[in-house]
Amino acid sequence: MRNILFCFLLSTFYPSEILAQRSYVEVLGIAQDAGYPQAGCPKKCCEALHYDPSLRQNVASIALVNETKSSYWIFDATPDFTTQNNLLYHSIKSSTLGGIFLTHAHIGHYTGLVYLGREAMSTSKLRVFVRPKMKLFLENNGPWSQLVTLGNIELKDTQKPVQLNSNLKVESFLVPHRDEFSETVGYKISSSSKSLIYIPDIDKWSKWEKNLADLVKENDYLLLDGTFFKDGEINRPMSEVPHPFVSETMEVLNNLTAGQKSRVYFIHFNHTNPLLSKDSAEYTAVIKAGFNVSYQGLKLEL
Ligand SMILES: [Zn+2]
Ligand SMILES: [Zn+2]
Ligand SMILES: [Zn+2]
Repeated sequence: MRNILFCFLLSTFYPSEILAQRSYVEVLGIAQDAGYPQAGCPKKCCEALHYDPSLRQNVASIALVNETKSSYWIFDATPDFTTQNNLLYHSIKSSTLGGIFLTHAHIGHYTGLVYLGREAMSTSKLRVFVRPKMKLFLENNGPWSQLVTLGNIELKDTQKPVQLNSNLKVESFLVPHRDEFSETVGYKISSSSKSLIYIPDIDKWSKWEKNLADLVKENDYLLLDGTFFKDGEINRPMSEVPHPFVSETMEVLNNLTAGQKSRVYFIHFNHTNPLLSKDSAEYTAVIKAGFNVSYQGLKLEL
């Protein structure tokens, strides 16, 4: 009886169209740009994958899925785009790729666009959502410029929020990163009841004007840059490739409640990151501290 009453109250306050929609975000990959294994890595981190390819991981990407309407949008076109797109295409009945949102012009985040061209999918006016510098970069450099001139893609600006339908909205925001070819953005995906933050790449939290703890308090899920676990993880100056270490992010968020910490999911792991193995002490430490490690297939209801 209480359930019936609850449904009645909901339907009084929300349009029936929104109630009928089931939307979620699905993680399509968790690795840093170069993937896992990384090309030419002779070390232990990638050696096991030579013998057991099932351990490999796709490059970090997420999809926003509106199951009711059989449509989905992919965030970042990775070198694993074919696998990632096909996964959705075949798992959702009569599905349509509604568009692609790009974060920035580093190899793991946009080079999958090559699969939209003449030699591959040959899409027609597929909407690719970008900010102005990324737009100029794609329009003025081959092979991306050919996608524009042939009409395979249509570049759409994200400086203003993008309303995908009556229930789903996407907003981009700038984050500090190595912006050689484009600006770098993170995304906020909102439904009428929940919101999710996606930041696969950012230099250091201290370089951003936004307070990370506040961001966690304001949103339901946060998929955050977990490229490196801690300082000294690679054999070159880590200041050349700045990222917030997972250990630093956990420290910054240490004073949050257990409920708030459980909203955080690390993603975008370098091949050296021990979080790629569930058996590592670091993986256990993250879970014990109340945070999450994202994995391919993870679904977060919106
Ligand atoms: Zn990246
Ligand atoms: Zn490796
Ligand atoms: Zn990057």
